[in-house]
Amino acid sequence: MEKLITGVHHVTALTSDAQKNIDFYAGILGMRLVKKTVNFDAKEVYHFYYGDEEGHPGSILTFFPYQGLVRGRHGKGMLNTTTFSLPTTSLEYWTDRLQKFGVNYKEPQERFGSEVVVYFEDFDGLGLELVFTDKDERQGFVHGPIPPQHAIKGFYNVEIGEEGYERTAGLLTQQLDHALITERGNRFRFAATDTPGNYVDIVCIPDRLRGLSGSGTVHHLAFATPTREAQDQARQRLVERQLNPTPVLDRNYFTSIYFREPGGVLFEIATSGPGFRVDEPQDLLGQALKLPSQFEKDRVSIEKALPPITLEISNYL
Ligand code: ZN
Repeated sequence: MEKLITGVHHVTALTSDAQKNIDFYAGILGMRLVKKTVNFDAKEVYHFYYGDEEGHPGSILTFFPYQGLVRGRHGKGMLNTTTFSLPTTSLEYWTDRLQKFGVNYKEPQERFGSEVVVYFEDFDGLGLELVFTDKDERQGFVHGPIPPQHAIKGFYNVEIGEEGYERTAGLLTQQLDHALITERGNRFRFAATDTPGNYVDIVCIPDRLRGLSGSGTVHHLAFATPTREAQDQARQRLVERQLNPTPVLDRNYFTSIYFREPGGVLFEIATSGPGFRVDEPQDLLGQALKLPSQFEKDRVSIEKALPPITLEISNYL
């Protein structure tokens, strides 16, 4: 049977400052802002989507900027770290780049024998890593401020902190079409498709405090499903496991369902299509404020309520 879940779709996090967020992700990290819209559930708040050239599933990091939002806390029941994928030849370029822009990072560490990872945080404390590996054949955003050979290719893995791993692992393997790929120590790596961008690491951290939502924390992790029909079938599986998923919601660029996994992380299942070109052409992605049709009548007041933002790419070459 074909898989209902094919991998990771996107990660959505909370930030305290829209402009700093643009500067960090589109500037320092050189990702493409593929969509500038508003939170469909709170239209006075932006929703930024960053990704590769097109915003393929497995490359999309999105943010709700709540200006001045108090900081959250990493911990159990949270997606604590999102890892971006780079080739092994890019390690020096990236440590130099982080230094150049005043981003503190930890010394490179080895993981699973073949991966070198560098941990750092954004200005809100959001946990990020760069992984240097030659396993990833995707191309990142090659028209940004970063030389194409060093551009971020997308996610490599995400890391969820849990008390214990079994209950979340059970959900991943039984309802979400994942398999255990590898494990070492307290880290268990799962994937629906065994390729970079799709790895979900569960790390057991029973001694840590529970995470608290706030700026610098992840709001939810979205998995990709190929079609609306597959999404309905996946939803039915969740209903049978009594996970109480939401109805299917239209997010314009995909449709979504949400539910909470047993360890406390909010999960989403999002369709791979139609994608970000549904309301603007490829070469103009992310430039104009795009609103869903139900908000267009309020465009003037919405634009007035949102803080102005700019991006000077030349500052980030
Ligand atoms: Zn989402």
